Amino acid sequence: MRIGIMGGTFDPIHYGHLNSADEISEIFNIDQIIFMPAFIPPHKKAEKITDIYHRLTMTVLATLSNPRFAVSTIEIERNDYSYTMDTMRELKKASGKNIKFYFIAGIDAFKEIFTWKDADRLLKSCDFIISTRPGYRIDDLSNILSNTVSKKHKNIKFKIEKKNPFCGFPGLSVIGSKYYIYPVETTLLDISSTDIRRRVAEGRTIRYLLPETVKEYIYKNKLYR
Ligand code: ATP
Ligand code: MG
Repeated sequence: MRIGIMGGTFDPIHYGHLNSADEISEIFNIDQIIFMPAFIPPHKKAEKITDIYHRLTMTVLATLSNPRFAVSTIEIERNDYSYTMDTMRELKKASGKNIKFYFIAGIDAFKEIFTWKDADRLLKSCDFIISTRPGYRIDDLSNILSNTVSKKHKNIKFKIEKKNPFCGFPGLSVIGSKYYIYPVETTLLDISSTDIRRRVAEGRTIRYLLPETVKEYIYKNKLYR
């Protein structure tokens, strides 16, 4: 069984998240995508983030109708900073050997990987699927990584794998592990939670940027005003 983990703040969840998860599940033949709302996203410490119960509810509402989508509360139950390495460790510990995990991230998030806790170990603990996002290039994933592999990360090396069964651009294998980093081209949707929050604050339309139920939830609970 193949499981994709889609981490995020989901403040709020939108069609950019949902469509890339859906297309990735099709391309990689993934049985289930687990949306994992971060309780305290370590990289967004300084920003004002909406209460987790609102973010969780919106994520549940948005994913309800897709039988392949699920939502996990394990980062919420940890009640602390949400480090992906801790999450992956917990998930692997709780699941059988026949489960293969893929961590899904957009290129904008992944290019900061070396600021994540235990990045080296994380890259050697599961496959990564990296999706496109408007304004970012997916074709130079290896450049992005080699530019960001600082002196601190000498113990992690990648090999370029020209043959990538999932997309036209080369993937990378993480040397000293059995894991890969797969770039993938999904339909580019220039939607962000930041833009949605700003639109709501300005009283502008968000109707076709996220599911109707999430839009209703935002208005009903007066979020982002
Ligand atoms: P914010 O603007 O608040 O940062 P966001 O729209 O970037 O919100 P996040 O919750 O930060 O959403 O993103 C979670 C994950 O989803 C990240 O890996 C991010 O790259 C990816 N993602 C977000 N929006 C899109 C999109 N439009 N297309 C593809 N991937 C996306
Ligand atoms: Mg973001």
